[in-house]
Order: sequence, then structure tokens, then C-alpha cells
Amino acid sequence: MSEKTVHPETLAVHAGWNGDPATDACAVPVYRTTAYNFKNAQDGADRFALKKAANIYARLMNPTEDVLEKRLAALEGGAAALTLSSGTAAIYFSVTNIAETGSEFISADNVYGGTFVQFNTILPQSNNIHVRWTHLNDFAAVEAAINEKTRFIYVETIGNPALGVADIEKYAEVAHRHGLPLVVDATFSTPILEQPIKWGADVVIHSLSKWIGGHGAGIGGGGVGAGKFDWTQRGNPLYVEPDTGYHGIKWGEAIGKLAFITRLRTVALRNQGPTLSPDANWIFLQGVESLPLRIARHSENALAVAKYLKAHPKVAWVRYPGLPDDPSYALAQKYLPKGQGGMVVFGIKGGAAAGVKVADGLKLFTQLANVGDARSLVIHPASSTHSQLTEEEQIAGGLPPELIRLSIGIEYIDDILADLEQALALA
Ligand SMILES: *Cc1c(COP(=O)(O)O)cnc(C)c1O
Repeated sequence: MSEKTVHPETLAVHAGWNGDPATDACAVPVYRTTAYNFKNAQDGADRFALKKAANIYARLMNPTEDVLEKRLAALEGGAAALTLSSGTAAIYFSVTNIAETGSEFISADNVYGGTFVQFNTILPQSNNIHVRWTHLNDFAAVEAAINEKTRFIYVETIGNPALGVADIEKYAEVAHRHGLPLVVDATFSTPILEQPIKWGADVVIHSLSKWIGGHGAGIGGGGVGAGKFDWTQRGNPLYVEPDTGYHGIKWGEAIGKLAFITRLRTVALRNQGPTLSPDANWIFLQGVESLPLRIARHSENALAVAKYLKAHPKVAWVRYPGLPDDPSYALAQKYLPKGQGGMVVFGIKGGAAAGVKVADGLKLFTQLANVGDARSLVIHPASSTHSQLTEEEQIAGGLPPELIRLSIGIEYIDDILADLEQALALA
């Protein structure tokens, strides 16, 4: 099977796996092991010296994870991928795999609340790495924020929760003109609706916990490297200078364009340890097989909900990138033509208090802090996921206090609409 010519629906089921060579098992086994047997001391020495490509220790490598990594790389059209213990870990270790202490990066300010706090507070505190915030798709601001300390540019394909769509091709053009890589969190679009690498992204990050897993049953993250960027540009010390933690290797020179993912495995996994468990990994392998079917249904249902809310007299405003009068509609037509994802946000007349009443009144929807489950979910982000942000930061990121966030599930659409109908009647 040539993975370059096969369609995503097929890759989601087959990529990276052709049956278990040890047992002939058809489905991917969960390899619950900490370490792997050496045949003798020489065999062990050869594995450690990387003279032999064989397993050593499961913090770094596991055959169950290997399948998911190959599948994610194939789905994204990337060169290699790595799974990590959560989406949050994938973001944190991607940042510290590019930016050294004292450096800076530029991020759109409409990002996931946990990412916002990681960038705004944790990275300066713990790593002396500093974010420069810019509004989504404000390329003049991005250009103005670039200086000799800048290491990369960061955006989400569809922002959480304001649902602004990033102009990835333009971000990549600006980043590459300045010798910078573009890092994209594509959790909300999934590799089925948008492949950021096709538009120029150099690193794609996923929270596997969301639509890829798809059933709200496990936490995990992934990073995919496009394998096109020259990591030695702008003299990035992490890629140019000898790494005293790994035999003095110069990552850029020794590994070339695969340096990002190779360094992420050998530095982050080996020495910092954010390893995904093989059991959680299996949940994502199970989920990814039906991702193309589910995300189509999520998108179809979400568009129907957005249209319904738009026409409802009690609703003040709705955002869904698939609505023709949405500010992101034109970008969504370019980047998300197959569907605009499962998220809908709205505000109702009467503001935050009335919105909370609707959230509390929903019966089919579950109220919780997650997205991308097969079930329909609801949350009031200003008082929960984004509550660590000041009101000013919330509004800058496109989160007014009355915003209600819906993650539309794969239930029958009439049942979803009926639940919204009865809850809106209470407000
Ligand atoms: C949930 C989420 C994350 C964090 O992922 P976890 O797996 O929960 O750590 C990062 N980015 C986006 C867009 C998310 O929705």
C-alpha cells in the first residue's frame, strides 16, 4: 500500500500496521512492557549505540505507539510523528524542543485556555521562554513582533473557544520568509478536515484526547514533523550547538530535516519522560479508525445546530465557521471545505446569567470540560476552562462572558435540536 496515494479514510484504518509479526494478531496488541530483552551484551551495546534499530526501553519506544505514530504521520502527510502523555505535554515539549532559555516566540492570542496559561505564565517562570501575543491573522503584528530572539510562530487551525480560522498558508509564508518554523495545533480540525502541512506548517500538534480518541476515554497527545524545515536556520542553538546531553550531537547537522521529531524523542521522552501509556495509545488507535466517519457527522450536526441557533429569537449571536455570514467563513471554505468541525459557540440575550441557565437546562448534553466526544457536550468557558485568564485576556482571545460552548456529538440531529429547544425555553 502506497501511503502517498491512499485516501485518509483508508489510512485511518490501515497506515502503520499490517498484522503482528510475532503472533499474527490482526488488531494492534497492547504491548505492556517496560523493557525489551537483549540477546546478549553485544546486542545491548549495539542497540544503545544505535547501530541496530531495535527497542530498548518503553519510555522511548513501544510497538503499540509506533503504529499510532506512523498512522498520525500518514494522515497528516508528515515525515514522522511522536505520541506524548497529553496534548498539553505535546505543546510544552514542542516549545522547549525549539526555543532555548532566553528566547521568544509569537502566538495567536485565541488559543486554548491551558495553552494560554502555559505560554503566558509557566514558560517564563520555568524556562525563561517568552511569548509575544498577536491577534489571529494580524500579520502586520506578527511581522512587528519578530526579532533576533524569535524561534517559531504558533497558531490553532480553529481557535478554542472563539472558533476563528487561521490563515495557515499566510502564517507559513511569513514564518519561512524570516527563517522560522510554523507550529500548528490542529486538534479542532483533525487531520481529516485540514492538513496544515499541505499549507506549509512544519510541526502539527494534536490533543488525541478529543476527536481522534473520539469517545472521551483517554488523555494523550501527538506531534507530527513535516520533515521540510532546515532547523539550523537563524543559528538556533538547540540544533546548531553540540548537545552535551547526547554525545555532543549537533542535531541539525546529524539528523537534517527530521531533527525536530528525533530530538523530541531522544531529549523530551528520554530525559523528561512525558510518555503515553500503551493502554491509552490503544484507545486512540481504536478511535482513529472511525475518525473520518465521525468528524463528518460531527460537522454536519454542528452546522445544523448553528443554523438552528442563528434563527432562534432568544439567541444574540452564533459563531460557526460554516455559517455564510461568519467572519471565518471565507477562510473555512479554503481550509475546511469538507466540514468545519464539531464546535459551535453562541451567546443568548440576557448575557452570562441566561446562558448558564440554558447550559444547566440541557438534558442530552453533558456539562463538562472536554470536547470531541461522541456525546454532545456543553460548558461555560469564562467560569471554567478559561477562568485563569483575566476578563481582558478572555475578551482579547474572543471569549465574551456570555459565550456558551457546544461540542456537538454524533447523536441523531433531531434529538440534539429538541434538547436545545427545551433548554432555550427556560431562559
Ligand atoms: C484539549 C486541548 C489541548 C490540551 O490537550 P490535553 O490532551 O487535554 O492535554 C490543547 N489544544 C487544544 C486545542 C485542545 O482542545
